[in-house]
Parts: sequence; C-alpha cells; structure tokens
Amino acid sequence: AKQPVKVLVTGAAGQIGYALVPMIARGAMLGPDQPVIIHMLDIEPAAEALNGVSMELIDAAFPLLKGVVATTDPVEACKGVNIAIMVGGFPRKEGMERKDVMSKNVSIYKAQASALEQHAAPGCKVLVVANPANTNALILKEFAPSIPEKNITCLTRLDHNRALGQISERLKVHVSDVKNVIIWGNHSSTQFPDVNHSTVKTGKGWKSVRELVSDDKWLNTEFITTVQQRGAAIIKARKLSSALSAASAACDHIHDWVLGTPKGTWVSMGVYSDGSYGIQPGLIYSFPVTCEKGNWSIVQGLKIDEFSRAKMDATARELIEEKSLAYSCLN
Ligand code: NDP
Repeated sequence: AKQPVKVLVTGAAGQIGYALVPMIARGAMLGPDQPVIIHMLDIEPAAEALNGVSMELIDAAFPLLKGVVATTDPVEACKGVNIAIMVGGFPRKEGMERKDVMSKNVSIYKAQASALEQHAAPGCKVLVVANPANTNALILKEFAPSIPEKNITCLTRLDHNRALGQISERLKVHVSDVKNVIIWGNHSSTQFPDVNHSTVKTGKGWKSVRELVSDDKWLNTEFITTVQQRGAAIIKARKLSSALSAASAACDHIHDWVLGTPKGTWVSMGVYSDGSYGIQPGLIYSFPVTCEKGNWSIVQGLKIDEFSRAKMDATARELIEEKSLAYSCLN
C-alpha cells in the first residue's frame, strides 16, 4: 500500500478550505489510490470552526483519509508536509488601502515561509491561493530560501478553467474537448486569457478556437473581460466569493503538477519567471506549463502577436508594482 501524503491547507476553516478538504480526502487531488493525512491550520478566532471541519471530516468516513491534524500552531501544521495549499490570508475589507492589505499578507507569508522551510518535508510543493496570490508566493519564496523556487507556485488554474468554460459554452462543445488556453500574468483583473494557441476537438481532428469561433471581436473583448471579471460576477450572484471552483482548481493544479499533464496539453500555473517570453525574471507570473514527474516547465516557442505582447507586458507591470509595494511593507 502507498504511504500517506501529508497535505497542509491553511485558512482551512474558510469557505475555500471547507470545499477543498473533502476533495483532497476523496482523492481528487492526488488520485483514487493515494492515502492522505490532512493538516489544517487557521488562526485563533477560527479555532472552533476549524474543530467543526475536523469533526465533519471524521464523520464523512473517507477511505483515503488516514489522519487529520487541526491546529492554530504553524509549526505543528507544517510538520512533515509534502504539499502545502496556502488559502489563509487577510481579506481586503471595505475602505482598506491596498498597501494595508499587502502589509498584512506580507507578514503572514513571511512567517509561514519560515515555518514551512523549517518543518515541511524535503521537496514540499507549495501552492498559494490567497490574494494577492502571485505576490504572496513571491514573499514566501524570499523568506524560505532553502525551498527550491521551482517548488513555489500560485493558482491561476481557476482562471484557466474559466477560459475553457467560456469557449465550451460559446461553441457548445464539452469542456474536456477544449485545450491549451493560456492565462498570462497576475491572478487579478489584468491577467491575459489567451486563446491564440487553443484548440477544440472536432469530428475532423483538433481545430483552432479562432477558426471555430470566427468572431475575433468577441475573443478580443468580451471573452477576455468575462474571464477577468468572473470572480466579481460570482460574488454578485452568490454574495460570497467563488469557493467550490477555486477548491476544484487547486486540486487540478496539484494533480497535474504531481501526476503530469496529458501529452499535447498544457495548463496555466503561476511560477517563478526565468525570463521566458521577455517577462522580467524574479516575478511569479502565470505561464503555460507542462508537467512531468513532479516538475513543471514553461512551454517554449509560442508565437506572440502585438496584441498579446501589450497585454502580457501590462500584467507584468502590475506585478512589478505589487512586488515593490510588498518590499516597501517589509521595512
Ligand atoms: P476564502 O476561503 O473565500 O478565500 C481565501 C483566500 O483565497 C482569499 O485571500 C481569497 O482572496 C483567495 N482567493 C484566491 N482566488 C480566489 C478565487 N478565485 N475565489 C475566491 N477566493 C480566492 O476566504 P475566507 O475568509 O472564507 O477564509 C479565509 C480563512 O483564512 C479564514 O478561515 C481565516 O481565519 C483564515 N485567515 C488566516 C490567516 C493566517 O493564516 N494568518 C490570516 C487571516 C485569515 P480574496 O480575499 O481576494 O477573495
């Protein structure tokens, strides 16, 4: 039998956490034959709610779930974890300045970086979900220098899946017959959802999305803004931010990272830029990646037109700004 994998979820008493832990315990993240031990961290005011989640995990009698640790102690939470999903973060409240939110999150991610660095299992893979996700991941990387930068990522898979969903709805094809959209850049409204390399499975093989949609105006305007603003649309409808789709995307992200992307298919992940596509090295930027044997690599050689170039650079500029704002909070 396989050894259980230890998965940490921070902010586990929150609404994404509540949707995410049962998915992990059911095998949606690591596969139907992989036992798991779930570590849940939250802050003191959420301790009782966290205990409730812990009780529900026991009551669900998941066959793959070999143990639960629920704690408000970051050291205990990080001990020996193989995978860390960082969902906990300080929410932007009405009237708060961007700098104030950044400052709160910088101190959270700085502290959690040290706990992970000192106590996680070697080779621990980290996924940051909490916003500002790219910059929180960057802070985590800076303050956990012994964790290889290739092991620190942020979530843009939800945006990627939303883009697949929009194309699927428009063309009335199943979402699994659409592939290779790209989310470039920041997990924010400046992200660039790109369909220039995306294809759809038809009776006559894979055809380009641009050809099948044959409405460049829609693809260059409404499609992009719908994906960029989908989070806000869900808040408006649900009076709460997206949770089940965010949790599902976090599972997809780790699943494909650990178990690999299917041949000929890529996914979007926020990863440390090596300068590919002219994106400044040292940012956590969302790129198209393929994964094999637990490692991601950025898809190389895609042709970038002028329209895309401008959008890729604009979202990079926002990340450079966020980075300097984050650094100014450190002093
Ligand atoms: P959620 O579970 O809804 O969201 C958690 C984080 O994920 C937020 O930062 C949220 O950003 C972010 N996020 C990223 N992508 C998405 C997406 N596509 N849709 C929605 N959210 C997204 O928040 P809750 O408030 O329910 O739970 C947060 C938990 O974190 C609480 O249990 C709280 O106690 C804990 N917490 C932990 C802290 C710590 O570890 N020190 C500090 C503060 C809170 P956004 O805010 O932009 O929606």
